[in-house]
Amino acid sequence: MNRGLLLVLSGPSGAGKGTVCREYTEKHKDVWNSVSATTRQPRAGEVNGESYFFLSREEFEKRIAEDDFLEYAEVYGNYYGTPRSEVERKLSEGIDVILEIDIQGALNVQENTTEGIFVFILPPTMSELRKRIVGRGSETPESLITRFRAAFDELNYVSKYNYAIINKTVEESYEKLRSIVVAEKCRVTRI
Ligand code: 5GP
Repeated sequence: MNRGLLLVLSGPSGAGKGTVCREYTEKHKDVWNSVSATTRQPRAGEVNGESYFFLSREEFEKRIAEDDFLEYAEVYGNYYGTPRSEVERKLSEGIDVILEIDIQGALNVQENTTEGIFVFILPPTMSELRKRIVGRGSETPESLITRFRAAFDELNYVSKYNYAIINKTVEESYEKLRSIVVAEKCRVTRI
C-alpha cells in the first residue's frame, strides 16, 4: 500500500485557501482534513475538535515541549499547530491528508519532513484580497491593516512551493487542485 499524500495548502489570509480546501474535502470524503490546535478564541459557530482544538497558551506550550506538533507557528499573536500523531497515522494507512496552514507552518513542514506537496493559493488581485478580508467581517480596522500588509510580504514565498493556484473561482481552483493530486499520484516513484 502506498503512503497517503501530504497536501499542504497555504497562502495569504483572504486568498481563499479555506474555501478551496473545504470544496476539495467535500468532494473527496476519503481525504482527511487535519484539525489544527490554536490558542485563539473560538469565533461564532466554531466547534471545539471540528474547527480547531482550542487550547490555552499553557496547554499549547506544554504540547510544543512534548514535540506533539508536526509544525506550529505564531500567527497574529496566537499559536496554531498541526498535531503530529494523527497525521502520521493517516498517512501510514494510505489516507491523503490536507493541511491548511500559514506560510511559516508550511516552511516548518518542509524542514521537519521529506514529504509534502506544497500548494500556494493566490488571490486574483490585491484589491480582491482586501475585499475578501473585509467581507469576513471578523477583523478590526487595525487587524485588517496587519493582515493586508502581511499578505503583501507573504507573496514573496511563492517560490518555496511546488504549485501555485490563482484563486479566481472556487470551481476552477478545485479542478486545478484535483489535477495536481492526480498528477502526483502518477509519479513513477509512487507506482
Ligand atoms: P484563522 O484564525 O483565520 O482561522 O487562521 C489564521 C491563519 O492560521 C490562517 O492563515 C490559517 O491557515 C492558519 N492556520 C490554521 N491552522 C494552522 C496550523 O495548524 N498551523 C499553522 N502554521 N497555521 C495554521
